[in-house]
Amino acid sequence: MISSANPSLIDDLVSANHILVNEGVLDGFGHISVRHDKHPDLFLIAKSMAPALVTADDIVCCNLEGEVIAPIGTKTYVERFIHSEIYKVRPDVQSVIHSHSPAVIPFGVTGERLRPICHMSGFLGALTPVYEIRNSVGESSDLLIRSQSLGHDLANVLKEHAVALLRGHGNVCVGISIQQAVYRAIYTENNAKLQLQAKPLGEITYLSAAEAQATAEMNDQHLDRPWQMWKRRAQSSKLY
Ligand code: MN
Repeated sequence: MISSANPSLIDDLVSANHILVNEGVLDGFGHISVRHDKHPDLFLIAKSMAPALVTADDIVCCNLEGEVIAPIGTKTYVERFIHSEIYKVRPDVQSVIHSHSPAVIPFGVTGERLRPICHMSGFLGALTPVYEIRNSVGESSDLLIRSQSLGHDLANVLKEHAVALLRGHGNVCVGISIQQAVYRAIYTENNAKLQLQAKPLGEITYLSAAEAQATAEMNDQHLDRPWQMWKRRAQSSKLY
């Protein structure tokens, strides 16, 4: 099932792992997946390991129950259900990123909503939903999305949005391609930093819903430009 995927899709998935670390979205934790280009009920993701160290040989194939089907006996991330449950209910989504990108965390725990502050993050829409895991399992969980049921509840909060926050944990970004999901993950972190910087200065004028939509449509036409730069920058790092 892995060998039937377009080799360039696997190359891009490996590059995305490195880019997301290099740009401060992922660290030793977090993961990105892509839907299989020939089997929409399957997705590709790295086995359970640090994203900076992922190579093409580390990519595994999962079904939408969150089971690894190839290579048999390989383990992937505990939180694979974030990916499987979003792919189930969002046929438009081709790539999913789960990160703990740090500047976003405050917006999941305070009631202060993450909103688009500049034209690069119009994809956030008018506001960003927050998933509260206590609504699913009470107050004694480890906050991880470790079951289909929790993944299902998270997907229900994400709905048609590009990004959802997980209270006290991180966020999930989705896209119609690896490149769009990576762009969104990087600019979600970027928007959070800018919003935190602007807040003490005074009342923030956020993008309107129409401005958010117009800027997102514009930026979607230029996803390859930053992708090539992020890829080169990651390749030039000694880490990968
Ligand atoms: Mn996590």
